[in-house]
Amino acid sequence: MALLLMGPPGGGKGVQSKILSAKYGWPQISTGDLLRQQIKDCTELGLKVENLTKSGQLVPDSIILDMIFERIQQPDCQKGFILDGCPRTLVQGQLLDQHFQSHHIKTVVLVLDVPDEQIKERLLHRIVCEKCGTPYHTKTLPPKQEGICDRCQGNVIKRPDDSDAIISDRLKIYHQQTEPLFEFYSSKGYLTRIDGTLSKEEVSEKIEQVLTHYTCETTCQ
Ligand code: AMP
Repeated sequence: MALLLMGPPGGGKGVQSKILSAKYGWPQISTGDLLRQQIKDCTELGLKVENLTKSGQLVPDSIILDMIFERIQQPDCQKGFILDGCPRTLVQGQLLDQHFQSHHIKTVVLVLDVPDEQIKERLLHRIVCEKCGTPYHTKTLPPKQEGICDRCQGNVIKRPDDSDAIISDRLKIYHQQTEPLFEFYSSKGYLTRIDGTLSKEEVSEKIEQVLTHYTCETTCQ
């Protein structure tokens, strides 16, 4: 199964992906994390995408698709995988869909809806672990020890793209380039929208209900 978690930046995709990954053993594939790792390792690809990611612009589709196709061929993706933050454009969605259909991979798309104002508040106060990506909130959910991740002891930092002006650009791009995908997935019957303003536990519960429904659809007949 390909489980696609979509929604605005800071909408809770990363948090929910981690919960699902731990529960089902499916790897969480975050294109943002993969790109940031390339930047950190100073690879050729990292140098190419650094300015785009730091300024909140989208990385070209061909780079993203090459990265994803290579990653999902790894043995740990055999049973299922979670795409966190991909696709983000119609082209990415269409090409992934062709691939999944031709490989008989069932697609489930979940959109976590959160209004822009709430996203701005979340991202302005967001700090994240550089190593494992765990997000914190400076006011409501700080790490126990300042600057150190509770989970993996990695450095907790402020992402350069979580600044006021760049957050607005990222939201604009989300509305213009990513939202058109909802119609595409909805017409195929893959898409479920979830209220991402609920608590982490409530969102998780709603996701479980959707997954149970899809699993039952394929195995209970
Ligand atoms: P994220 O961590 O998901 O917020 O992604 C951080 C940045 O990585 C984005 O602002 C883009 O610059 C880039 N990025 C991540 N995923 C994609 C994607 N599917 N398509 C294009 N750019 C992406």
